[in-house]
Amino acid sequence: MLRPSLPPFDDVLDHLKRVFSGGQITNGQYVREFENKTAEYLDVKHCVAVSSCTLGLMLVERALELTGEVILPSFTFSATGHSLIWNGLKPVFVDCLKDSFNLDPFKIEEKITERTSAIVAVHVFGNPTDADLLTMVAEKHNLRLIFDAAHAFGAHYRGDLVGRGGDAEVFSLSPTKLLITGEGGLVATNNGELARKIRIGRNYGDPGNYDCEFAGLNARMPEWNAVVGIKSLGFLEENIQRRNYIARLYRQGLRGIPGVKFQTVDFHNRSTCKDFTIFVDTEKFGLNRDMLAIALDQEGIQTRKYFYPPLHKMKAYQRVDEACVLNLPVTDYLSKNVISLPIYSLLSDDDAEKICHAITCIQTHGHEIHRVLAEKNREMP
Ligand SMILES: *Cc1c(COP(=O)(O)O)cnc(C)c1O
Repeated sequence: MLRPSLPPFDDVLDHLKRVFSGGQITNGQYVREFENKTAEYLDVKHCVAVSSCTLGLMLVERALELTGEVILPSFTFSATGHSLIWNGLKPVFVDCLKDSFNLDPFKIEEKITERTSAIVAVHVFGNPTDADLLTMVAEKHNLRLIFDAAHAFGAHYRGDLVGRGGDAEVFSLSPTKLLITGEGGLVATNNGELARKIRIGRNYGDPGNYDCEFAGLNARMPEWNAVVGIKSLGFLEENIQRRNYIARLYRQGLRGIPGVKFQTVDFHNRSTCKDFTIFVDTEKFGLNRDMLAIALDQEGIQTRKYFYPPLHKMKAYQRVDEACVLNLPVTDYLSKNVISLPIYSLLSDDDAEKICHAITCIQTHGHEIHRVLAEKNREMP
């Protein structure tokens, strides 16, 4: 399904030796260098390295002193919502768009109340969300705007790198993401005061004199993670281009298959192709998404169901008012019918073509597979 892209071991070895002999193993010169390099790369004033995107989101929400309700998509990874719960905020889910898979900016206003303090949007699978429209909505209602940019390091929005939107954009550097430090996160912002608070916040809220300004966390990045991050920046662009190339191979290879649809990326934008997730129309394809997953597994091809279940259907969110009775038709429709195919820069053209071929064969033999799976189900006790 995926393989993390890491720098050659020899490239990091000398630096790791320096960390080991120097004695400063967390939040030191390599972390600072990584922050400076990423800020320059993204053309943003401040990047603050943290130990994960989840903690980065939690700290941003805390530092912005959000209160009450926060609007977010349900079609996202769990951590987007969890960060709000940990801050005692109420997640208010809004439906997404069926083509881009991103938060539907036109359905936000109906969910805004006098208790709403912010919008958290996500660049789903690295496909930039409509930041211009979201900024307009946020400004009109005087709301904070945060981007969960976990998937989007290196994505382009209207010609610029994603990273300067809203109050902050928070990237993930964990193993399934684009730029990898092992574990890690990065808060990008042009707001100097917010950056200062995140720096303090990742160190328990301590400004340096033990008189904590607020209840922070330990969210520091170890030096060796920063070393890996610095070296990985060097081949990030190549990596993203390779993923986009594989995505094109998939689109070409799957285009003709009845019932297969793709996530649309606006032609002004570039996705990182963090995931390649297709939509399977059961009626036209002849099998549902779950059956396709089983059939692919039989062929030795791993898949994932990103994102199923959506947040508002998770056990963790059933105690959130109304979450269980929410009507999010597009989110439900997508999450029941999407399947993510293997994508990583080391995936060969040949493998991508084999996967397309397997899906073509599975579709052509849909009736037989359907019958076999139905029989198997019947045999089960
Ligand atoms: C992975 C992910 C996160 C969490 O990132 P960590 O660095 O693992 O904490 C948050 N949001 C989204 C959308 C993600 O995919």
